[in-house]
Amino acid sequence: MTTISEADWSAAVKIIDGAGQVCLACHVRPDADALGSMLAVAVALASRTGDLPVVASFGDDPFEVPGILRFLPGQSLLRRPAEYPDQPEVVISFDAASIDRLGRLAGPAEAAGALIVLDHHASNPGFGTVNLVDPASAATAVLAAELIDRLGITLTQDIALGLYAGLVTDTGSFKYAATSPHVHELAARLLATGIDPGTVSRELYDRAPFSYLRLLSAALGRVELNRDAAGGLGIVWTTVTRADREAAGLPLDAAESVIDIVRKTDEAEVAAVLKEDDDGIWQVSVRSKSVVDVGRACAELGGGGHARAAGFSASGGAGAAIAALQRVLDRW
Ligand code: MN
Repeated sequence: MTTISEADWSAAVKIIDGAGQVCLACHVRPDADALGSMLAVAVALASRTGDLPVVASFGDDPFEVPGILRFLPGQSLLRRPAEYPDQPEVVISFDAASIDRLGRLAGPAEAAGALIVLDHHASNPGFGTVNLVDPASAATAVLAAELIDRLGITLTQDIALGLYAGLVTDTGSFKYAATSPHVHELAARLLATGIDPGTVSRELYDRAPFSYLRLLSAALGRVELNRDAAGGLGIVWTTVTRADREAAGLPLDAAESVIDIVRKTDEAEVAAVLKEDDDGIWQVSVRSKSVVDVGRACAELGGGGHARAAGFSASGGAGAAIAALQRVLDRW
């Protein structure tokens, strides 16, 4: 089902089967695909007979699971980066396009006896000793499901929920072009375990505290449209400032879904939301509809991602960050 060779799959299975302990790592500020895939594999490995010790983490400091992902099963297997082995026997990385996306866990991953990379970013250079990287896969969850199958582990509801959350997120709730027949076949297998798809969409998309509406209102009140940008295709953008979040009492991840409203704009191929984090750094989410490769644009600005969904960080002002993005897009 993927472009990954049989030799690479067997190498990964052999490494995991022979390991005394397996350490898992997903990218910093994890989304549902990164954390869901990792926790699914963590639960699967921990459920195997023989009780394989499993350590799962991500390299954020402070270490905090995003609020909307706290419903994912397997969180008891999470450890802080400080509790992660310095020289693990085996590390499996999830949804990280490069080793620096592992943040504080990049060191342990590099020092690991074997590093298995599970990812679907086209820009992934293959930084592991075994690379299970397939840009044609809709989500890392697709690859995590195949790994679990190849390890001979039966899907349970706790495993399926993490995989389903990743699949839903990275296909835009089965709306994006990557939603292949295989995606729906996998979704059917996951639902057949008895998980409730309504719970996943409600937790991920359809709930927020009342103060979120105030934050959204502030952000939408500042929205800007430049029809001439991106070679006349147009860009729409806004900001979510630290002050907005402080007024609403919300963490950075609460601003994640603002982009889904901004990107509806008919007059713009590209949409961006600039979110000011607690250190005053702008975390910029960028989306495109059908033509512009925002992954390439964000890579030029030190970030990365996919052709239709990507991001970068900027330490100057928000104005400078959006100007830099427009300059890159105008060159094409
Ligand atoms: Mn992903």
